[in-house]
Amino acid sequence: NTIQKRLIQTSRFIQDAEKAVGKSEKYDFLAETKQLLNIVAKSLYSDKEVFVRELISNASDAIEKLKYAQLTNNQGVDNQIPYEIQINANDMNNTLTIQDTGVGMSKEELIKFLGTIAHSGSKQFIENLSKNNNGNNQNSIIGQFGVGFYSAFMVADKVQVFSKSYKDDEKAFEWSSSGDGSYEISEADGVTRGTKIILHLKDDCSEFSKEDVIRKIVNKYSNFVGYPIVVNGDKI
Ligand code: ADP
Ligand code: MG
Repeated sequence: NTIQKRLIQTSRFIQDAEKAVGKSEKYDFLAETKQLLNIVAKSLYSDKEVFVRELISNASDAIEKLKYAQLTNNQGVDNQIPYEIQINANDMNNTLTIQDTGVGMSKEELIKFLGTIAHSGSKQFIENLSKNNNGNNQNSIIGQFGVGFYSAFMVADKVQVFSKSYKDDEKAFEWSSSGDGSYEISEADGVTRGTKIILHLKDDCSEFSKEDVIRKIVNKYSNFVGYPIVVNGDKI
């Protein structure tokens, strides 16, 4: 376990070093996004597992969008790749990976969609928060509105998003953030159409790296998803 931790530290060190030599660009989150991330990351919200629902529903939406795009115009890369959501729980690395073969995101889309609060749930969350700014109601507000993609930061202290748009001539990119004030974007190799999200779980959230735990949670939400979900190689 100590060796494992050292390896993880080393790989992060290498990643940081690569960033330092200028392969990656750093961006600041907008003020209201920072505010939201702060709350989410520090939340004591007891139903943390809702992040699984949020990420699966994004994956499903992305596949739905791809299907529509493929029907309406015949373009797109990697057309042979099937519609599928793959989840991998890895308790050795304390990570959880959620991958879809949907529309993916270009660099501009990563900045626009993951760098700003786009969706209505988050907006409402912030609005309600400023109304009840004593902070007592934060937990119930998280439960009520959901915080979409940012819910990943309830359980992860680092989130990596690898994405490749279905559109022709788009390169693949990695978006990553520790949920503090900023995120980084760099070009990525070996990424096929769609989006892969790697959650580096907080020490006290390591349960979400356990296959049986994840399988149970996924089972709860899979009824609402019209595409195959595969957990650690086995279909749900
Ligand atoms: P919402 O799903 O309500 O729009 P989210 O915070 O969950 O809000 O996601 C924000 C946006 O990021 C989505 O609308 C979508 O454009 C983009 N996004 C998130 N996850 C994915 C994904 N797996 N594939 C493609 N786009 C995604
Ligand atoms: Mg969503």
